[in-house]
Amino acid sequence: MKTTILTVDPTNTQLNNEIYAKAAEVINTGGLVAFPTETVYGLGANALDGTAVKKIYEAKGRPSDNPLIAHISDISELYALVKDISPVAQKLMKAFWPGPMTLVFKKKDIIPKETSGGLDTVAVRFPENRVAQHFIAACGVPIAAPSANTSGKPSPTRASHVEFDLDGKIDMIIDGGHCEFGLESTIVDVSGDVPCLLRPGSVTLEMLKEIAPDITVDKAVLGKLNEGERPKAPGMKYTHYSPDANVTIVRGSVDKTVKEINSLLEEHKNENCGVIATEETKDGYNTKNVLVIGSRKHPETIAANLFKMLRKCDYYGYKVVFVEGFPESEIGLAIMNRLKKAAGYNIIELN
Ligand code: AMP
Ligand code: MG
Repeated sequence: MKTTILTVDPTNTQLNNEIYAKAAEVINTGGLVAFPTETVYGLGANALDGTAVKKIYEAKGRPSDNPLIAHISDISELYALVKDISPVAQKLMKAFWPGPMTLVFKKKDIIPKETSGGLDTVAVRFPENRVAQHFIAACGVPIAAPSANTSGKPSPTRASHVEFDLDGKIDMIIDGGHCEFGLESTIVDVSGDVPCLLRPGSVTLEMLKEIAPDITVDKAVLGKLNEGERPKAPGMKYTHYSPDANVTIVRGSVDKTVKEINSLLEEHKNENCGVIATEETKDGYNTKNVLVIGSRKHPETIAANLFKMLRKCDYYGYKVVFVEGFPESEIGLAIMNRLKKAAGYNIIELN
């Protein structure tokens, strides 16, 4: 299959109408289109067409019990898809839609089992990214999309990442530049009596608590589950975000972290090692192989660059990677959730 790549100017909608019409034709004839959102690039198909949705699983090599998120371009499109929208769900929608938050509702029959991974619930998101909104609106149907990467690899935050993973396996990529937040959406289950955070993201737990003070947190958000335990977001059980390298997180005060990583570098001096560091620490390492992920003063920069840095580790062929750890408050909860998975929960705590 030839993958067509079309570049849009996110600031100029009028110019792009022809591109959205071409993308909509692909979707409406059962094809796959990768598109930018404010979180990561999504791999989209018509969420109401089970046969089309199946192609997403094939292209990504994704297990079929890992459901997708149905993306809409206006809140009015929600009512046809879900049952029982609770008052707290409405409050969360009002506070955070459009934006990087996904809500899980009881599904209506119109949602095929391929989209919901066989569950009786469906995850829905109204993205804020203008390119995503125009694309979905042009299609005239909800767009089922997981992240547009090969299953298990870091999520794509650039069209070039999608091309690297999926060129020749999907019909089209809409290149709308880099993704603002860079981590997949926050997922909140609102299908029960009390909302539950299933996956942390750029809408933080602290922000959610302002709207839903009684929100609970699924165990899979914080750490590794025991044998036999199941996360409520099926995707959280799979290995994720992994570069080819063996990744270790080192967490403690900045000084201790740098010292410990330098001694680990010495221990592994015969291997191709890399360090994922921050603006504040980048000059402290005894190696040239330092990737700067962002600034500790501006953790949102760390979130935005995280997947790009994990992909760079593969590009440079690192076999061993040491990455600095971060406090698990605010956006740090989502950053550490992704890093822990990338590291297979391999973490050295210094304090
Ligand atoms: P991705 O954006 O690639 O991470 O894929 C979508 C994520 O949403 C996966 O982690 C799924 O497990 C999660 N998800 C989708 N639908 C549901 C649902 N009905 N209940 C819980 N989690 C869901
Ligand atoms: Mg994904």
